Amino acid sequence: MASDEFDIIRRHFNRPELAFAVPSVSLAIGDDCALLQPSPGCELAVSTDMLVEGVHFLPDCDPFQLGQRTLLVNLSDLAAMGARPLCFTLALSLPGSDAAWLTRFTAGLARVAGEHHCPLVGGDLTASAPPLAGRSGPLCLCVQVHGEVPAGTALRRSGARVGDAICVTGTLGDAAAGLRILRDGAWPTLPTPLRESLQQAFHAPQSRVAAGMALRGLASAAMDLSDGLASDLGHILQASGVGARVDVDALPLSEALCAAVAPQERLALALGGGDDYELCFTVAPQHLSVVQERLAALGTRVCQIGQITPGSTLQWWREGRELALKLRGYNHFHREGESA
Ligand code: ADP
Ligand code: MG
Repeated sequence: MASDEFDIIRRHFNRPELAFAVPSVSLAIGDDCALLQPSPGCELAVSTDMLVEGVHFLPDCDPFQLGQRTLLVNLSDLAAMGARPLCFTLALSLPGSDAAWLTRFTAGLARVAGEHHCPLVGGDLTASAPPLAGRSGPLCLCVQVHGEVPAGTALRRSGARVGDAICVTGTLGDAAAGLRILRDGAWPTLPTPLRESLQQAFHAPQSRVAAGMALRGLASAAMDLSDGLASDLGHILQASGVGARVDVDALPLSEALCAAVAPQERLALALGGGDDYELCFTVAPQHLSVVQERLAALGTRVCQIGQITPGSTLQWWREGRELALKLRGYNHFHREGESA
């Protein structure tokens, strides 16, 4: 990013609100690497998520909202492992160096970083208006989060057992409905507070970090819901070598979603919409009440939606009958119209 690359890093990224000191980071922005010092007896949990303009967010989206969302979707992966956030790095490919945009974007990042005690410790910056090609690329944001979890206690996808309850936190489908409002102006007659709550679910997902940590030692398997329950629960089933039966009437749906969307379409959003960033986990029946107590103490809604079964199929049930649902979560390399 030509001459002012380092100026941008200093002015916008290496600021105390965003790149603050924490005990587990012994060296932060400014050298070739950051140096981390996880707590004794902990494993490092590391994950990367990339957000590309036009794929993961709308081109004209508010930079503060984008800053928040960029870090929140990454923290969600730590939550899904039961890990405590330590710090993150950020690589950006920027079409320009708009100071007002960068100020708002980093303010959104800093809000979430501060809330989760997870500072920025390094990154990279390139211009996506390249000197060697004619047109500018899209804005591209790539975060790597680092967390820690006591060795052997991370929540994996592979531990679900026959008879375990399947649970989800929060409500499903709100973010997908919020994106429909933002992108298509859907449901124009919906009262403003409900519209706003759906849009907010897309902009600022919850990232259930505290809930994930509370599930250590209790949940048998867990993951976060980024592509929609229909697709994501399938990953737990495959990794664990089990099947599942889900009661669609037990799915937690918000008042806003029910007000906006007709019943049949609700299911498509709640199961296939994606972007929920809630946790889906399995738990042995004898641990279910402790899980419910712990999550209630955190103010996190939790709902049992089904049970792990023998076999390998994912069945959707309503009123004692199996439903034939054709659902598929978001998949980047599926072509439109192709069947699952
Ligand atoms: P190098 O050339 O060794 O890859 P850079 O010159 O790209 O390092 O970056 C210098 C320092 O600034 C490094 O510590 C790097 O981690 C940090 N940095 C670069 N871009 C960002 C960014 N977007 N946010 C935070 N830190 C950054
Ligand atoms: Mg270097």
